[in-house]
Amino acid sequence: MRDIVVIGGGMSGLAAAHELERQGARYTIIEVKRRFGGGIRSSQAEGFLMDSCAFVFRALDETRLAALGLAGQQQARGDGSALLSGGSESLTAALAKDLRGGRLMRMALSSIGRLGGRFSLCLENGLMLDARALILALPARYAARVLYNVSPETAGQLADFQYESLARVSLGLHKNNLPADFASRLTNCAFVLRTDSPSRVPDSEHILLQVGLRGAAGEDSRQIIVRAARLLGAQKPLVARVDHWAEADLLPIEPAQHAERLRAIRASLPAGIRLIGSDYGQVDAQSSGIARLDERMAMGRTAANAALATLRM
Ligand SMILES: Cc1cc2nc3c(=O)[nH]c(=O)nc-3n(C[C@H](O)[C@H](O)[C@H](O)COP(=O)(O)OP(=O)(O)OC[C@H]3O[C@@H](n4cnc5c(N)ncnc54)[C@H](O)[C@@H]3O)c2cc1C
Repeated sequence: MRDIVVIGGGMSGLAAAHELERQGARYTIIEVKRRFGGGIRSSQAEGFLMDSCAFVFRALDETRLAALGLAGQQQARGDGSALLSGGSESLTAALAKDLRGGRLMRMALSSIGRLGGRFSLCLENGLMLDARALILALPARYAARVLYNVSPETAGQLADFQYESLARVSLGLHKNNLPADFASRLTNCAFVLRTDSPSRVPDSEHILLQVGLRGAAGEDSRQIIVRAARLLGAQKPLVARVDHWAEADLLPIEPAQHAERLRAIRASLPAGIRLIGSDYGQVDAQSSGIARLDERMAMGRTAANAALATLRM
């Protein structure tokens, strides 16, 4: 039997597994895709280093970054936010490279059962695993499915989460190709994040924008790029990339109402299961486009410690 199983190898699951590793625990991490990182992915083209989702985030603790081998790679933006010179994927890659525990890649958890004091996990490929504690690092829509058997009440609450779609458009261009009234056009989009940091653009003449657009469900990538460029008056982008997230952030909800539903979910979750991820964090800053990777990492560490406490009981 495994002691602890972490399901989901995005930022939250990796942070949990990393803490388990640090404390010498016996754990296994399961990730349905062939790579770790979840939504976080960095890519390079024409000298621009782009991120598909978390691009700018609330600044991370420098000591923790140094412990991951990322000393000096965080670039502060002066407003409490920051980006990583090697792209946000350098953070998930740094967490993943330290993991020595079991890992099951390209395998999805299908359902969870309970047998006496242990959990019985059924994977979609038919593999069965036992565990004493679980960390579910999954968005609510996926967590609802896997929890249905073991806790229909929690599953029902999670299935009620509603999302809105978002297209994140990365545009790399010459600064001369932005209009003089660029600053006044920013409110045309859900958010606009930008950098001319040397590690992210070919030279000081260029700028990288990440534009958030709502209501792009019926558009193809080309139409989305054209719309983003028009809204900002951006001409002749050298690089344009679209990441269209059909279920991106939660539909706007009052922070107090969200806190209340999280409290109810925690109360109904079977003992020994922890639920972590961006759907269970604070919702007040969602529309800014600035990710809370610090919150993801803290949630992972807390869940790891709680799972270890379960084993000691
Ligand atoms: C559109 C968009 C909006 C964002 N909004 C916010 C925000 O509001 N606040 C914020 O802080 N950050 C936000 N982010 C930034 C950032 O991407 C997230 O905070 C962070 O990446 C979430 O990590 P996670 O591990 O919680 O979830 P994910 O990155 O979604 O990771 C979940 C992982 O679980 C895996 N998985 C799913 N189902 C299974 C299964 N059955 N079995 C095994 N594995 C499974 C997936 O493949 C994935 O790797 C947003 C990102 C995007 C793209």
